[in-house]
Amino acid sequence: MPLFEREPELMRRHRTTARGALFLSLVAGLLAGTAAARSGGTTKPIVFPILGAAHYTDDFGDQRPGGPHQGIDIMAAKKSLALAAEAGKVKFWTTSASAGCMLYLYGASGTNYYYIHLNNDLTRGNDNRGKCVAGTAYAPGLKDGAKVAAGQPVGFVGDSGDADGIHSHLHFEVHPGAGKAVDGYPYLQTSQHLLFAAPKGKPFTLELDGTVMKPAALTLQVKVTTLYAWPMGQHQTKLHRALLLNVPDTAIVQSTSGSSTRKATILSARIGQAVKVWTMPATASLKTERGDDLSLGAALVLLKG
Ligand SMILES: [Zn+2]
Repeated sequence: MPLFEREPELMRRHRTTARGALFLSLVAGLLAGTAAARSGGTTKPIVFPILGAAHYTDDFGDQRPGGPHQGIDIMAAKKSLALAAEAGKVKFWTTSASAGCMLYLYGASGTNYYYIHLNNDLTRGNDNRGKCVAGTAYAPGLKDGAKVAAGQPVGFVGDSGDADGIHSHLHFEVHPGAGKAVDGYPYLQTSQHLLFAAPKGKPFTLELDGTVMKPAALTLQVKVTTLYAWPMGQHQTKLHRALLLNVPDTAIVQSTSGSSTRKATILSARIGQAVKVWTMPATASLKTERGDDLSLGAALVLLKG
């Protein structure tokens, strides 16, 4: 395990220059979810390591005070959830002054991922009073050495170590074959952003707002802009994400105009029409978390205007 070989690299400074609501009854109509297994090779897309809004550029190799930048700095709101890029095993690393609160993910594919500058604040401010422990830096209840599923929350984005006082971000490194860091940008560009994160098998429902892209008899493609995931209470905006949903016979389809609501059909929907969808309660799996085609079904479709 190359922890100690890697540590000097960590010590290099890599300072960034940038800086219920309505709750459908969760009855069991439960789909059996199987987390897609990742085995061998690194060609499969990883899970984007943050839930929700984040931005980054290819700053791998950029000259920084301590040498070439070894990761990609992904800017995100403080305490955004950091997610496991693939299934694997985690190790906490808490003693590096530059990395701050850090996590290693030893991926099942043989690729290792480093999560650096995890949260160390107890308040919304930059108080630095939190320790590198579960619930502050790492996901609540996560144990050092634990096995994790792809997409499982492993920590919280922050500004610990030499990112202190700088815009919160995740310094994310990719080490194929447990070797040297490579440019993580292509991994992130082809990664799959999750709609929500929940323990596999846990019931959930989504409330989606967006516009109709393609109505059909038993399916509906929606460009989703806003998403609430229940009961997790996770919220995302400005998604611009196309989702292809099943619309079973049992789905309730209505059109609303002003204060009137009437029965409607999916085929009456117009492209570009505003729409709200409640998904059928289902159980969390990597497929549903990614929103793979037809992995989600509509329970209620509200066509607006
Ligand atoms: Zn960095």
